[in-house]
Order: sequence, then structure tokens, then C-alpha cells
Amino acid sequence: MAELTEVIGSDRTVRLIETATEFRRGLGGRVIWTFSSTVTGGGVAEMLYALVGYTKDLAVDTRWLVIGGDNEFFRITKRVHNRIHGQAGDDGGLGAAERAHVEEVLNANVESIADRVSPGDLVLLHDPQTAGMARAMAERGALVVWRSHIGIDAENEHTQSAWEFLSPLLAYARGFVFSRRSYVPAVLSERPTWIIPPSIDPFSPKNEPLTDPVARAILITSGLLPGTPSVAPTYIRRDGSPGEVSRPAWLAAEELPGPDDPIVVQVSRWDRLKDMTGVLRAFAAHVAPSGPGTLVLAGPAVEGVIDDPEGAAVFAECMAAWQSLPPAQRARTILMTVPMSDVDENAIIVNALQRHARVIAQKSLAEGFGLTVAEGMWKGRPVVGSAVGGIQDQIAPGTGVLLRDPTDLAGFGRAVRELLDDPARAERMGAAAREHVRDHFIGDVHLLRYAELFSSLLSTLVDAQTA
Ligand code: UDP
Repeated sequence: MAELTEVIGSDRTVRLIETATEFRRGLGGRVIWTFSSTVTGGGVAEMLYALVGYTKDLAVDTRWLVIGGDNEFFRITKRVHNRIHGQAGDDGGLGAAERAHVEEVLNANVESIADRVSPGDLVLLHDPQTAGMARAMAERGALVVWRSHIGIDAENEHTQSAWEFLSPLLAYARGFVFSRRSYVPAVLSERPTWIIPPSIDPFSPKNEPLTDPVARAILITSGLLPGTPSVAPTYIRRDGSPGEVSRPAWLAAEELPGPDDPIVVQVSRWDRLKDMTGVLRAFAAHVAPSGPGTLVLAGPAVEGVIDDPEGAAVFAECMAAWQSLPPAQRARTILMTVPMSDVDENAIIVNALQRHARVIAQKSLAEGFGLTVAEGMWKGRPVVGSAVGGIQDQIAPGTGVLLRDPTDLAGFGRAVRELLDDPARAERMGAAAREHVRDHFIGDVHLLRYAELFSSLLSTLVDAQTA
């Protein structure tokens, strides 16, 4: 908490502690269970690490469980994910057979969780993968809330098929959370919903402060920068113990940038909606020919993220696009896959990349929130991001550049080039970006919203008992 106070100030800290004390009183002996489908990779896992940690400091009993599933389960739930984003994804169905498979996998999970969830406990389910747990948890007497970290502003036939698939699974949830109001689908419009934007943890390896020499040492050890580190590539692990980067990343690179050469970075899972290939083409055609700078597209090692079956295919597409670039442009772009075997090491490499970047890109075609945007802004970097989903909620005027049309490769290139050519402007924007994140996207703000949500659900119970 003392560390957090340094970031959010004492008024905000006092408010958080007072709210937690009051909240614990209302909670009685109940436990808050939070369910997700992976401990590594992706924004949800990243956030849960931080928030679950804070609730422990605040003595609120929160436990995180990760569900398992087979490949078919993750193929189906990825299909649902893509369709909630308004895209077909693949040509598979979302009918009775798929729902039966999802239920079968989740029933097996319920068995392994056995009797750990007690009547009256609060259960927070994250994303389509866990939606099918709502019924079993409600039947155990838990109060279930389902959170979608994804969404799209306007529904279409794909979103409708996803919501038709999910709504019977979600019938047992008492409340719903979305990152933006416009993400609430028509089928849930009459149900209790809360709008809670995500947050970042300034002390996790992903965001912890790093000096310039250490950030460079990490990138040299990863293989991205040439030379020998002047200091050890050390950092603090999530559990507080010291860490040192030792694993090199895998790179597709013909030339490495010099230690002081500007780099432009997009960090994303290998997902078509992140449009890594579009960023590659835009940089090659519209940034590389007109000045200095190297593009680094960084993502997880493709075998690392088990609930993301499309990753390998999307990475292969990006690789093919890289290989087919004209040589002079290819030399200015790098694909990097960061090992996932050590979550903290992965995070600190991403941190070092974001800090070393002159400009950060997030040219997604669709985005639930886009934690990488807040992460980049927190490091005082200007972000050029598409005006889609939650990216619009993060890049305020003067804190970065919003690209109206995410498919406008020339427009993206222009925005990046202008920032590379005007370091003073880039620095001003970056400083404003950091303050914007401090005000809106740090965990205390997030936890206060969850406390409101759960208090309100608990008060409906009290009302029902006293009625
Ligand atoms: N991330 C990471 N390593 C990678 C790629 C991504 O740690 O190789 C992290 C990234 O820093 C961010 C999260 O994964 O914290 C992605 O969250 P975001 O909301 O941007 O997108 P999502 O993947 O959830 O769609």
C-alpha cells in the first residue's frame, strides 16, 4: 500500500482503505471467487494478478481459479470471442453440439472445484470461456457476476450468433460487467449491468520502473539491441524476489537497431484483430522510406498461450508478409516472439520494449479495452491507436493520436512519422499520457467500482431477506 500511495497519493489511498473496511463488513465470511481461463498471456490474467493481490493486502478474501479445457473447447470459445467482436472468426457453428461440448468441459471443471464454493459466496466469471460456470455456481448458492472484457459498439449477425449462444449459459448470472456502455448487447439490456474499465498495476514487472541502462540491458539480453549490457538485466519479480532476464527472444530480423535509434513498438497477441500484419505493411510503406526508425512487432511465443489456438496461424501470416517485403523495408522491421515460460520475464521484456520505444502503436481492428495502450501511456510514451473500442476511452486529446480508420495505412504511417520527427511533441504527449493513466486506470479506481457492484448485489440479498 505504501508503494501504491506514492502513485495515487494519500487521499486516494485513504478512500480505498475505508471502502475496503466497509466492504468487508458487508461481506461477512463470504469469499470472492474469480474464474478465468489462463494464468498467462492476455489482458485478463495481467489484471487479475494485480487486483487479486491488492484485495489480499486489503484483507478481502479473494481467490482466483483457472478453468481447463480441450482444444475443441478453446476453438469454440475463441469463435464466440471473435463473434462478440463482430467477426466470423472461422466457419464453425455455434449450435447445440458446441454448447453441449462447452457444458461438458465446464462440468468437469465444476467437479474438480468440488465444494470449495459455499452458498452466499460471490463468483466473478471472466469472458466467454467461463460463462458456462454460471449455472453450477448459482446452484451452489453463489451470487454470480459475469464480465465480458470484449465487445463491439454496434451489433451485427456475428455478435448476435455469439450472444444467442451465450445467453442460456448466462441466465443464472445476477449481474454483468462490460468495459464500455456500448458493449452491452441487446439480450442483456434489461439485466443489471455495470461499466468498469480495466486498470494497470504500476508495480508488476510489466510496469515497474526501469532505468534506461537496465531497459537496454534487458533488450540486449533478449537479442533486440546489439552490444554488451553495461549493467545486469535485473528486475523485481511479482512476488518481490529479484529476477534477471536470461532467455533470448526469437527474432525475425535482418538488421538490429542501434542503441539510440528510435523504435516503434506494437505488443500484441498474434490475433488478426490486432492487425500486426497491417502495422508491418503500414510502417514498411509509409514510415521506413521517409526517415529513420525500426518497427518491432512483439508477441508471445506462439506455443505459449493455450487458450489462443489461432496464434500460430496469425504469426505465420505475419512472418510470410515480413518475408515478402522489399529488402530495404524488411531491414527496418522486426518480428519478435517473447518466451512465455516465465511470466515475469515475459512481462519485464515487454516493459523494457515499451520504455525503449519512441512511439507505441496499437492499430487494432477491434479492441475490448487494449491494456497495452494504458501500459505504453504509463511509460510516458505517445500511442498511435485505432479509434476502436476501449482505445478511444484511453487516448484523450493531447495524450496520443487516435486513428479514425484503423485500415488507413497511410494515415497510420503519417501519425507515426510526425511523432518520430518531433521528439518534443512526442515527449509532451507522453507526459500527459502518464498523468491520464494515473487519474483513470490504476487499480484503486477499478477496485472501488467492483466494491460498488458487489455491495449493491449484497444489498439486494439483504432487501430480499427483510422483505
Ligand atoms: N502481453 C504480454 N506479452 C506478449 C503480448 C502481450 O505480456 O507477448 C500482454 C500485454 O502487455 C497486455 C496483455 O498481454 O498486458 C494484452 O492485453 P490487451 O488488453 O492489450 O489485449 P488482449 O490480449 O487481452 O486482447
